[in-house]
Amino acid sequence: MAQFIWQNGTMKPFAEATTHVMSHGLHYGTGVFEGIRAYELANGESAIVALKEHVQRMFDSAIPLAMKIPYTLDEVCQAIIDTVKANNLKSCYIRPLAYYGLPPTKVRVRPDPKTPVELIVYAYEMGDYLPDVALDVLISKYIRVHPESTAVGAKICGHYVNSLQALIEIAGTKYNELIMLDHEGFVAEGSSDNIFVVKDGVIYTPELGTILTGITRKIVIGLASDLGYKVVESKIKPEELFTADEVFFTGTAVEVRAAGTINDQTIGTGSEGPITKHIKTEYLKICSGQNSKYSNYLTIVK
Ligand code: PMP
Repeated sequence: MAQFIWQNGTMKPFAEATTHVMSHGLHYGTGVFEGIRAYELANGESAIVALKEHVQRMFDSAIPLAMKIPYTLDEVCQAIIDTVKANNLKSCYIRPLAYYGLPPTKVRVRPDPKTPVELIVYAYEMGDYLPDVALDVLISKYIRVHPESTAVGAKICGHYVNSLQALIEIAGTKYNELIMLDHEGFVAEGSSDNIFVVKDGVIYTPELGTILTGITRKIVIGLASDLGYKVVESKIKPEELFTADEVFFTGTAVEVRAAGTINDQTIGTGSEGPITKHIKTEYLKICSGQNSKYSNYLTIVK
């Protein structure tokens, strides 16, 4: 567990980083957050992956909520670096969260303009988010939030009640992950990851518009192209999953994980396929500083 949490400009002991029960974000899910990973490098330093991209997405996610984060992008990046340092962490998961705090007046959905925007940064040693095996996956009966109901590309707290309900459906079953379809029945994404489908050497992934704008997705699309694969962003029908050679998920927490089965049907050989393995190995090389072409993605914690 983290010893220190950065809260509104101050590094506080974990137990002291509290908030008011009438905070707007608690009532209405009006927050935006990020999940960021840092990796320990061979020289013992810690490198945060895609720090600027994550913080930029947090600022972008705040726009549909008309939320003004009261710090600059660089200040939030520095708060994140300071939190990793204060907790003496190397490989870790970092969670910045900005939310509407205690409104000065009434309880109402549209927050009073004087409602403060609070910001916290938490970091801890996460390890694997999903087991490092070919996953058993279920196509959820819950569809991904409709893109005309909310800014689905944004990482808004309230969106996660959608993922949670889908996850509750597989709790206590053999399934480790799920796939949500979009409102038109096309493949959207997992509970906390984007999805890729490999067929005849070509890598397909759902286009943006009904999914979170994944940062690992973006890195993997660039990486796969660099490695000589053709990558196509397109609409994917659920039945195309079953005839795929490989299906894999990407996400900051998840990293890269293969699907072994989907709805109990074996995908490819049922184990991690060669292209998934290649992408996963090369992605982890980027994260651990072993690919100088991608060193721009790393922020060394000093
Ligand atoms: N989709 C959802 C719903 C997610 O929660 C996440 C995790 N942030 C992702 C995709 C993957 O995004 P990223 O690669 O930016 O972590």
